[in-house]
Amino acid sequence: MAIARDIIDRPGAAAAPARPAPLGEMIDPFGRAITYLRISVTDRCDFRCVYCMAEDMTFLPKRDLLTLEELDRLSTAFVEKGVRKLRLTGGEPLVRRNIMHLIRSLSRHLRSGALDELTITTNGSQLERFAGELADCGVKRINVSLDTLDPDKFKAITRWGDFGKVMAGIDAAQAAGIKIKLNAVALKGFNDDEIPSMLEWAHGRGMDLTLIETMPLGEIDGDRTDQYLPLSAVRAGLAERFTLTDIPYKTGGPARYVEVKETGGRLGFITPLTHNFCESCNRVRLTCTGTLYMCLGQEDAADLRAPLRASEGNELLSNAIDEAIGRKPKGHDFIIDRETRKPAVSRHMSVTGG
Ligand code: SAM
Ligand code: SF4
Repeated sequence: MAIARDIIDRPGAAAAPARPAPLGEMIDPFGRAITYLRISVTDRCDFRCVYCMAEDMTFLPKRDLLTLEELDRLSTAFVEKGVRKLRLTGGEPLVRRNIMHLIRSLSRHLRSGALDELTITTNGSQLERFAGELADCGVKRINVSLDTLDPDKFKAITRWGDFGKVMAGIDAAQAAGIKIKLNAVALKGFNDDEIPSMLEWAHGRGMDLTLIETMPLGEIDGDRTDQYLPLSAVRAGLAERFTLTDIPYKTGGPARYVEVKETGGRLGFITPLTHNFCESCNRVRLTCTGTLYMCLGQEDAADLRAPLRASEGNELLSNAIDEAIGRKPKGHDFIIDRETRKPAVSRHMSVTGG
């Protein structure tokens, strides 16, 4: 009962529930049930999006990565402790060798009813190849990141991406019956003028669209203060053309949704900088080396690789997870520092996963 003890001992944890967490439930010191695990299965990627990575990124040595079997064991430990939703991300999850072995193996938790959802966030480059198999594993909805519909701009923003491949991937996923939500990072002077047409295109194809503010994560080649576009301004602009109505729709993520009357589709806003969404945070993030981050915007972490490897049983691992959840911070404090122009958090999004 490491969580319960931590709740009682922890200073400033007055908001914590008095009851001990029952088996199969993880409750953090602020009373939030942790039901969502995002796993970065690799830090590598076949794109080099300008806001995410430097072009000459140094990746982790392969020997530091958890094996697919270890990732399975870790994920399964979380499922046994109450996680209902798993999202594989990265880097690009579909470039990790034999990733479908892991997805197929994890799909047993969908069949047993222990898991509600198994999903991925992908740049779409490998989707044409994997869409059928993903659907076969019970993957019903995925997030595809796409910041522009202009092939030249796509090349400029992803540096290495092939727009045609991503379009073919989206077609393949839809043909396989997988629902797609598009994620677009809103970038000043890059795609602000394109957002209305992206919205119409996405909704015309039955896809929700979510806009994301750039977050100050990791050193990149450019200057983030130049890229930052507050979504409050984007929303105000869209409201001149479209009728936007707030709706309580939730996907288990931090997006706030509106319904767009003219298209009949949904538009989400993820606003880490202009709006603090931490109060309802239900997630933790695991890196491909087995480090658990309790918050995307804080350096607080727990090493789960050592307890995972220390014994074949899961007791040490389970205790380490309880200890980590017991110190999940209340929230993040993202700012883009205009003086130093340094990121608020030094690790890249590709390490913790988006
Ligand atoms: N490679 C996959 C993809 O692009 O969908 C998954 C990993 S990627 C890190 C996940 C999401 O994070 C993408 O939608 C990407 O646009 C977003 N992202 C990356 N760096 C970001 C940043 N600094 N601020 C906001 N979003 C970012
Ligand atoms: Fe790769 Fe995704 Fe980062 Fe783009 S956003 S570089 S696709 S990990």
